[in-house]
Amino acid sequence: MITRIFTLFLSLIVFTPAFAKKKADRKVIKQLQADVTFLASDGLEGRRTGTDGEHKAADYIEKRYKEENIAGYKGQYRYPFHFIYGKEVGAGTQVLINSVAVKIGDDAFPLPFSAGKHVSGDVLPEVMEQGNIWLISLYADQDQASNPHFEWEKSAFERSREAQKQGASGVIFFDSYGSKVPPDFNKHSELEQLDIPVVLLTNKCYQEYVKQPESGSQKGFSMDVNVVVNKVERTGTNLAAYVDNHAPYTVILGAHYDHLGYGEDGNSLFANAGKEHQVHHGADDNASGTAAVLQLAQWVKKTGKKLGHYNYLFLNFSGEELGLYGSKNFVKEQGIDSAHIAYMINMDMVGRLNDTTRFLELGGVGTSPAWGDVVAMGADFKLKLDSSGVGPSDHTSFYNVGIPVLFFFTGQHMDYHKPSDKAEQVNYAGESEVLNYVKEVVSTMDKANVKPRFTATKQTATGGKRSYKVSLGIMPDYSFQDGGVRVDGVTDNKPAMKAGIQKGDIITSLGEIPVKGMQSYMEALGKLSPGDKTQVTIIRDGKEMKLPVEMNK
Ligand SMILES: [Zn+2]
Repeated sequence: MITRIFTLFLSLIVFTPAFAKKKADRKVIKQLQADVTFLASDGLEGRRTGTDGEHKAADYIEKRYKEENIAGYKGQYRYPFHFIYGKEVGAGTQVLINSVAVKIGDDAFPLPFSAGKHVSGDVLPEVMEQGNIWLISLYADQDQASNPHFEWEKSAFERSREAQKQGASGVIFFDSYGSKVPPDFNKHSELEQLDIPVVLLTNKCYQEYVKQPESGSQKGFSMDVNVVVNKVERTGTNLAAYVDNHAPYTVILGAHYDHLGYGEDGNSLFANAGKEHQVHHGADDNASGTAAVLQLAQWVKKTGKKLGHYNYLFLNFSGEELGLYGSKNFVKEQGIDSAHIAYMINMDMVGRLNDTTRFLELGGVGTSPAWGDVVAMGADFKLKLDSSGVGPSDHTSFYNVGIPVLFFFTGQHMDYHKPSDKAEQVNYAGESEVLNYVKEVVSTMDKANVKPRFTATKQTATGGKRSYKVSLGIMPDYSFQDGGVRVDGVTDNKPAMKAGIQKGDIITSLGEIPVKGMQSYMEALGKLSPGDKTQVTIIRDGKEMKLPVEMNK
């Protein structure tokens, strides 16, 4: 009998928590669905950073924290931030042809990489001399003009840069073919600023003012150009809630809540973007992660002292879709650093668990030896592991300041960045399973009560068709546009680290090449070979320094 009672007792221990968990999950699933359904509803218009839709989402998240009695971080929930995103043609831009002002936009406009400067003089077709304004055809021929894949802006940039090197005082491009998709001012151009003004004349303007007679001599004309290109400042709002256990270290659980709006920022994958005005609902991306953070906050609060070895900071980022602006800003402005933060977990797109494949991507597993055990806990899933701390979401901002990170992601799908990423497509039961996994990680880490050790991971190359023989080993800050390349992080044991380059330094030249931005930085790298010894010029705290650097063999 004793044996039997013992067995019963044992099975009670085994089964009771499992049964209780099931019941709790139903509540979790219901709440996840309610949160995602609201955040992905039409009324929120795709939660684009800085819009009414984003504000409504922020209101909702704040309300949910308050309902669960979870305090704001440092006494507040909302953390607005400003960032530079894109450029615009400034007032004061003027183009005169033979003293006649043409219409900015319809007739002529500066290219985004143009210097904000004034230039005037005679424009002589086919005369390309130092000190002159150069006149260049945008397209080589009709074929190029009608090829939608021709990267006219990049081509114009390369040719302008060459013209600048050869002493042109300005460059005027013209569209003589009247391309089907007329060139337009690209607000999101990431090409670096040149030192000379560059203006494009549309086909309409070309026909009216520039076109030369079929026969007879080529005639010149005079131009007076004043270019103003402004940077566009935008504002987003992060949210932060906090469970303070008066512990020495804090754990960060985060997810972005912004999405694409109607696709105005050019990051939509909807085939009819630009023609059809449709809400991009962003249910999986990333209402799912937002709802997950709210669930975790609720769970941490309710669990109380059993999760008392750390403080818990819950973050909802905005500006992610535009380039991790919210998380970067929060890390910087709130002084988030590796001395006080134990680790960070990011959830971006956790709502599409496939019940058959059970695929789950786990990123950042190389950022701490502690994550070895975490992988073992994921036996319920078919895990795809990515060791890198750098990835396409907000954990990158924390990894870059030396914090161990984990990134949960249930995988790509057909509705990614399209209006069809809707609430009814989300697998809420699946998401609650992912949440259980995250909770297990959080509880295990809290019990262990040891701050996980940080390890730097290999940088996976991001984009770019060219491969370089050498690398400096820096993570550039792509949002920096004030001349030079600002270092967002340095990789262990690479030339930059050995040379003493630090996060925050601005590289202004490498070898012989002045560095104005990413393009000239890449050009400078392309000129170096493994083993080369050269010099890198940086600005640190406003002071210029020259550091010897040896490229890796
Ligand atoms: Zn996205």
